[in-house]
Formats: sequence, structure tokens, C-alpha cells
Amino acid sequence: LRRNGGELEFHQAVREVLESLGRVIAKHPRYAENALIERICEPERQIIFRVPWVDDAGQVQINRGFRVQFNSALGPYKGGIRFHPSVNVGIIKFLGFEQTFKNALTGMPIGGGKGGSDFNPRGRSDGEIMRFCQSFMTELHRHLGEYTDVPAGDIGVGGREIGYMFGQYKRLTNRYEAGVLTGKALFYGGSRARKEATGFGATYFVQRMLGTKGLDFEGKRVTVSGSGNVAIYTMEKVSEFGGRIIACSDSNGYVVDEDGIDLHLVKEIKEVRRERISEYARLKGAKAHYVEGGTIWDVPCDVAMPSATQNELTGKDARALVKNGVVAVGEGANMPSTPEAVRIFQDAGILFAPGKAANAGGVATSALEMQQNASRDSWTFEQTEARLATIMEAIHDRCAETAEEYGAPGDYVLGANVAGFVRVAEAMDALGVI
Ligand code: NDP
Repeated sequence: LRRNGGELEFHQAVREVLESLGRVIAKHPRYAENALIERICEPERQIIFRVPWVDDAGQVQINRGFRVQFNSALGPYKGGIRFHPSVNVGIIKFLGFEQTFKNALTGMPIGGGKGGSDFNPRGRSDGEIMRFCQSFMTELHRHLGEYTDVPAGDIGVGGREIGYMFGQYKRLTNRYEAGVLTGKALFYGGSRARKEATGFGATYFVQRMLGTKGLDFEGKRVTVSGSGNVAIYTMEKVSEFGGRIIACSDSNGYVVDEDGIDLHLVKEIKEVRRERISEYARLKGAKAHYVEGGTIWDVPCDVAMPSATQNELTGKDARALVKNGVVAVGEGANMPSTPEAVRIFQDAGILFAPGKAANAGGVATSALEMQQNASRDSWTFEQTEARLATIMEAIHDRCAETAEEYGAPGDYVLGANVAGFVRVAEAMDALGVI
């Protein structure tokens, strides 16, 4: 803790994993030898850099860029880039740490990393976004490569930003190295179903988890926080599975539409016009209402899918959800539930899918994008989605079986942490003291 002073989210993420490891160490004491656990908690490399750029008014702006290359025992570092004013080294480290175990859970050959900047894209013109991305990549490119480190998107970074970063990487290296970034657009090496993958994957995971209790999404009231990439495609797949989306949000407030959220309208507002979710209620008139501030978790639902950001669902929110009869919670975002909220769900016997497992479909499909790039191939949407569905079911079953094996049936938090840890630990052990 002293070595990583003030990095609250990183402490929270490490503590959550370490709390699951007691049963593993009891069974396999060798995992506690050779400072293996200490090494797993220490990033292999952390890069912090200046990102200077010029805004539309001709003013020079400065932001801070980060890339934490956490663990490459299983493959090249892999993990998204986040542009949000809250970004600091502790947040990037928590995300990189989580990513290492998530990527291990997919069973694919990818290590863990994460990056980003405290740049706030909100209200910035297209030209400003491009200049920022180019400056960010001007420093970062020397640390990347398809065999070294392969970033993707995250909060504030979608297809547009990946395109600008890829363009700058290509100029600087004089290499058309398609596999150096994932989340690319289809016409220059992107994968079908990558944009949809995190939300679709989380929905597949929760559907299978509901199935363990003989339930499914059909007719369920579902609340999804956020209205970005993960939220939108969670809403799409939940609706396909027969669920009714009652509410979604952004960082200013939430909308409730008892007829079911109109996804075409959300996509138009968020993906095309890049406006606020309050627009939804304005355009829908009396049929929907918007609540400024407040918490979306006060809206009664059967299934909650937090898909916005870390620690967005508190103990108080969890109590409200339990009181209102929630049966399952599936984390689309990374660490959206506070430790207190997770305890409340688990004590109440609610099915709870941690982000590390439930949102792994995005990175798994990024690994499929890397496969397509390496073989100069391009798969159909159906083929890619079928692979995603199989991967998510396998992750679900791995978590469930591991929880069972370690004496905690139904505890997906323990199952995900242990299954991810064991794969990383085995690889690190095999590679010597690294
Ligand atoms: P986007 O930027 O596309 O969307 C983020 C959404 O969350 C926006 O609606 C944003 O609203 C909202 N949000 C952000 N901060 C807050 C806050 N403090 N309170 C309430 N709402 C907030 O990001 P993604 O959808 O890509 O990412 C969402 C989550 O999913 C993150 O935790 C990310 O790490 C995780 N994730 C993403 C993956 C991916 O493939 N994209 C893969 C795996 C995990 P606003 O516009 O107001 O900021």
C-alpha cells in the first residue's frame, strides 16, 4: 500500500483478488513461493508522458498520457485506452491489473495492459480530437507493436479515435501493422462484431448465469447504466433475448421509458449526434422521463447491468436493488460495484457476475481481430458472434466450475479471480523469475 500511495482504485482491485486467493494457496502452497503474488501485483512497466496539442483557438494544451504494461506472461500486453478527466495512474493500474486476469480467463494468448489520458473529449471538435490522438500516439508508438502491446478503446475512445491513432502509428513507423490496435473500422482491418462484443458478451454471460436457476431474460425488466459502447450493445442483445430495457443513463442523469427504451433513438443521440441522454426524454415527450442527477438503481428492475464506470453502484444502491427484487446483476463496466455492494448482493443470494468475467467478450473479440489481421482474413458477423458466444459460455462455465472446486458454489467473484490467477501464475512460474 505504501509503495502505491493514494492509488485507491488499484488498492481496491488488488484487495478483491487477494481475498479470493486463500483457498488456492491452501491447496497449492507453491503459488505463495518466490514472491509470485508480489510480482503479479507489480506492473512490468509503467509509462507516463506529456501530451501537448493545439486547440481550435490556437492555444497549447497539455495532458498526461499513461500506459501500464502489467503482465505479458500469456502474450502481448492487451487492454484499452481511456480518455476521461478522472484518469490517473491508480485508475490505469487497477484497470491493467483486472485486465490481466480477464484476458487469462478468455483462454487466449494475451497479456494485460491499460492506458489513457486525463484528456476530456467532451465538447471537443473533430479536429481537436484528431490532433490530441496524434500527439498521444507520437509518444506511445515506440512502446507498441503487434507482438509487444496492442491497445483498443475504452471510455472516450471508440472507432474514430482508434482510426486517428492508427493513422499516426502508420506514419511514424512506415508499417501497415494492422494488428497493433483493435477496434478498427471494418474497411481497414477491423473485425465484425467487435463494436458489439462487450455488451453482447455480457448479455450472453448473464443469460447463461440465469440459466443455472432455470431463468432467462424473457419478459424481465432490465436497467443498464451508461449509454456508451457497452451499454448500447447490452441493450440490443438483452432486447433480442426478450428483456425490456427500462432505463439507461449518462453521467448527468438517467431516462426511464416504461414502454422499453427505443434503441434506435439512443444510437442516433449518442453515436451520431454525440449528445446527452436527456435528449431522449425531450424527443419522446410524455412517454419517457429524465431524472437529472440521482441514481438509476432506484428504478425497480429484475436484472441490473452496470455498464458505465468504476464504483458507480454503491452499497446504498445495492440495498435499493435488492429491496426492489433484483434477481441478477451483470457488470458490463470494470469494477462498477463497490466492495460493499458486492457483499450485499452475495449475502442476499443474488446472481452476481463480476466485470472481469462478464465483460471479457470485448477483449476476446479483439483477440479474434488480431487473428484475422495475422491471417489477412475477414470473418462474417455470424461466424464472429458465434465464436464470441462460445467463448462467453466457456468463461461462465470456467468461473462456475472453479467456484465449485474451491468450495464456494455460485460465487462467480471467487471463480473468476481464482481461474484467472491460476492461469497467469502457471505461466509466470514456467517462465522463471520474471
Ligand atoms: P463509453 O465512453 O462508450 O461510454 C461510457 C458511458 O458511461 C457514457 O454514457 C458515460 O456518460 C457514462 N459514464 C462515464 N462516467 C460516468 C460516471 N461517473 N457516472 C455515470 N455515467 C458515467 O465507454 P465504454 O462503454 O467503452 O465503457 C464503459 C465501461 O465498460 C468502462 O468501465 C470500461 O472500462 C468497460 N469496458 C469497456 C470495453 C469496451 O470494449 N469498450 C471492454 C470491457 C470493459 P458521459 O457521456 O456523461 O461521460
